Amino acid sequence: MNYFEYKDDQLYAEDVSIADLARRFGTPFYAYSARTLKRHFRVFDEAFAGTDHLVCFAMKALSNLSILKLFASMGSGFDIVSVGELMRCLRVGADPAKIVFSGVGKTDEEIAAALEAGILMINAESRPELDRINQVAGRMKRRAPVSLRVNPDLDPGTHPHISTGHRDSKFGVPLSQVHEYYAAARGLPNLELVGLSTHIGSQITDTMPFNEVAEKVRAIVSELRANGIALKYLDLGGGLGIPYQEEPPPPAEYAKVLLKPIRDLGLRIITEPGRVIVGNAGVFVTRVVYVKETDVKRFIVVDGAMNDLIRPVLYEAYHEIRLVDRRSVGKRVVADVVGPVCESGDFLAREREMPEPKAGDLLAVMSAGAYGFVMSSNYNSRPRVPELLIDDADVHVIRERENFEDIIRGEKIVELKAR
Ligand SMILES: *Cc1c(COP(=O)(O)O)cnc(C)c1O
Repeated sequence: MNYFEYKDDQLYAEDVSIADLARRFGTPFYAYSARTLKRHFRVFDEAFAGTDHLVCFAMKALSNLSILKLFASMGSGFDIVSVGELMRCLRVGADPAKIVFSGVGKTDEEIAAALEAGILMINAESRPELDRINQVAGRMKRRAPVSLRVNPDLDPGTHPHISTGHRDSKFGVPLSQVHEYYAAARGLPNLELVGLSTHIGSQITDTMPFNEVAEKVRAIVSELRANGIALKYLDLGGGLGIPYQEEPPPPAEYAKVLLKPIRDLGLRIITEPGRVIVGNAGVFVTRVVYVKETDVKRFIVVDGAMNDLIRPVLYEAYHEIRLVDRRSVGKRVVADVVGPVCESGDFLAREREMPEPKAGDLLAVMSAGAYGFVMSSNYNSRPRVPELLIDDADVHVIRERENFEDIIRGEKIVELKAR
C-alpha cells in the first residue's frame, strides 16, 4: 500500500505529479510520500497494540532529518548503528530513552557518546565489547544499560548479504555461549543487564523464521530467569520484507507470529523495523538519456546510476520500473536499464520486460525508499541527488542536490614536484 498512483496516465506522489517535480528540480531525485511513511509506521505500531512495546525505527534504512523528525513525533524510537546516527537523532530532538545501539564494531568514543546521551540500551555483540563498555562506563562513573545480541543460528532464506542470523555471520553471540556471556556480564560492575536482542536479516517474506527466533529466544529468557537473571527488554530486531516481487506477510500477521511464544514473558518488546516502514514510501526518478541497441541487446541509458541506487548490483535486488507518463508507452521490449557510471555493475534492472521508453522520458524506480539514498555516493564525481518529501500537495526539499563544490569539500590541492 502506498500513495504513488496514476491519475490520467501520469504518475503522482500523493497530489503532486512526478513529471512536475522533474521539471522543477531536475533529475535524478528521490521522492518520498509522507502519507505512506505515516501509514506504514502506524500500521506497524498498531500491530503490537495490547503488548508493552517500543518500535525503534532502524534509521540506517533512511536517515534524512525530516523523516526522523516525523517518526519521532509519532512516538518512534530509533535503532542506531553509529555515533553519526546518534547525532542525527539528537539533532531532531528524539528521546534518547528510546534509542538502542546495534552493531559489531562500536568504538570507545561511540560507547561514551551513547552513555552520555542516556540511551535505552547498547546491544553488545561480543565478549570484548562487554568488557569495553564496562571500562568506558567505569571511567564515566555510570552504569551502562546493556543487552546481548544473540545469534539464533537460523537461515531466513534471503540474499546472503542481508542475512545476519546464521552462525557463520559476524553478528551476535553464538547460542551455545549465551549463558556464559550473561554470567560474565553479570560480574562486570558497570553494566546493567537489561535485555536480550536479536536480528536475523532483512527482506524476510515468510513468518516461519520469526516464529523460530521467537521460540529460541523464549527458551533463553526462561533459562536466564532460572539462573537469576531478570531482563526488562526483548529486542527482536527488524527484517520484515516488502513487496518488491514477493508478497510478504502484513505487519499484523508478523506481530502475531512473533508475539505468540513470548507474550507471556512479561517483557517489554522492542522491534527495529527499517525497510518495511520506508521501502515503499520512496521512488527514485530518472530520465532516459539514450535508447541504445546493439545486435544482441537493448539498453535504456538513464541519468541515474549505481552511485544513486546501489541495491540492484549489491543485492541483485529487483525494483519495479514504471513510466512516469503512461501515454508514451511504446511496444514491450526486454532491456537493461543502465546508468552512465563506468562499471558493468551499473544497472537498475537487467533483462527487464517493459514498455519501451524514448529519450527524454521519465522512469520511476519503485520501492526505493529503504537503503536507497543512504547508500548513495559521489562515485564518478556525481553529485548526490535531492530528496523531496511530498505531503498531500506540498513539496519539501529535505535535501538539496549537491553541487561540484560539495563534492570536493575537504579536498586539498598539494603541489608536488613532478619528478
Ligand atoms: C538493518 C537492521 C535492522 C533493520 O532491518 P530491516 O530489514 O530494514 O527491517 C534492524 N536491526 C538491526 C540490528 C539492523 O542491523
